[in-house]
Amino acid sequence: MQAIRGMNDILPDAVHWWQMVERTAREVLELYGYREIRTPVVEKLELFARSIGESTDIVEKEMYAFADRKGQWLALRPEATASVVRAFIEHNLQADPLARKFYTIGPMFRHERPQKGRYRQFHQIDAEVFGIDDPLLDAEVMIMLCDFFQRLGLEGVGLHINSLGCPKCRPLFRDDLKQFLHQRASQLCPDCDRRRHVNPLRVFDCKVDRCREALAGAPELVRYLCDECARHFEKVQAYLAGLGVAFTVDPRMVRGLDYYMRTTFEVVTDRLGAQNAVGGGGRYNGLMRDLGGPDLPGIGFAIGMERLILLLQQGHHLAAGSPHVFMAVLGEKPVLEAFRAVQALRGAGIAVEMAYGGGSLKSQMRRADKLAAAHVVILGEEELAKGVAVVRNMKEKSQAEVPLSDLVEFFKGHILAARGQTPGFGPTPSK
Ligand code: AMP
Repeated sequence: MQAIRGMNDILPDAVHWWQMVERTAREVLELYGYREIRTPVVEKLELFARSIGESTDIVEKEMYAFADRKGQWLALRPEATASVVRAFIEHNLQADPLARKFYTIGPMFRHERPQKGRYRQFHQIDAEVFGIDDPLLDAEVMIMLCDFFQRLGLEGVGLHINSLGCPKCRPLFRDDLKQFLHQRASQLCPDCDRRRHVNPLRVFDCKVDRCREALAGAPELVRYLCDECARHFEKVQAYLAGLGVAFTVDPRMVRGLDYYMRTTFEVVTDRLGAQNAVGGGGRYNGLMRDLGGPDLPGIGFAIGMERLILLLQQGHHLAAGSPHVFMAVLGEKPVLEAFRAVQALRGAGIAVEMAYGGGSLKSQMRRADKLAAAHVVILGEEELAKGVAVVRNMKEKSQAEVPLSDLVEFFKGHILAARGQTPGFGPTPSK
């Protein structure tokens, strides 16, 4: 039996990256006032069709949709925004003054052609804010995203922004774009030839070369913005610049979901081949009303965790769950004392592995080597009688006797402080 194509197992070696990314995401999001929400992975198909848009690739081609035993049409969620909005409306969270900023982390499903960085089950870190229309928030959302990437030490990413206008100014652009595409209809791929009637903005998403060429000289949305949208966009840029955040205005960026308006943004990289978007989002002021809720503005983004982790792994190797300490025990007598010391170290947050079943010192050292333990603590009968243990630094190949009662302090103080790390697992820069 094999896993389904495009749906991956995340094995223990890689899980450490996932945990580190999730931990950092939670820290950052909570610092900015976001609270976690968890929604089901299955929803009514209609929720996604109505929110993401009937004529988007996601709804037209990529949805895992099925009828359940009672004939009700359901879908595995292709993204989280619609579910979070649904939950907000359903539970009347508008009444709760704390319920404005939400985040959720979990799997999403899209039936795309799998390749590096593109999967059928993938994971997103998703953030949504309701009820605030201030451009200050748009800037804060992007600044938080940059803050998160900075804390992860992510390199080689850029922030691209655009404004998609609003229902007042976008129709003018749409009409001109339709006109433009009509003149170039013969150059377009069959998909885009259909899109130009139903959803002309989607043509900007097409990866086919001749469609890209056909778009040379196409009208740009930023030039059509109404006064309100233009002011909003200017302020967003001024706040970003004022906080020293580098960004590029990309007038061709339309995003793959229909509900966006005004500010949209994407974090892109040139290090992942064709799958260049690590995260993206934007404002969606009409969505909550369209889904039957109060007319509250919204803004949000999603980060693709697989792509983020692929990027983080470039140029780094992983201390794949290696223990800080390996406890080697010689003979039967010191076992209990060694076990106590191991538990005391673990109690102090230091990862320790033991030699189960004893064996010679040589075989235990070999095991410690395989686990890439940073230190080995050796406890034999002789040491036990003296109330000490031998601590061997595996990298420096040095060793010292440390009183058993001082072991915790020794590792906490000397090693962890010297390495400037908190106890636990995590990636370490490669040499
Ligand atoms: P979207 O929900 O389409 O705005 O996508 C947000 C982010 O999710 C993208 O920037 C990607 O990093 C990630 N993503 C979207 N689709 C996939 C996929 N099929 N496989 C892996 N990551 C994806």
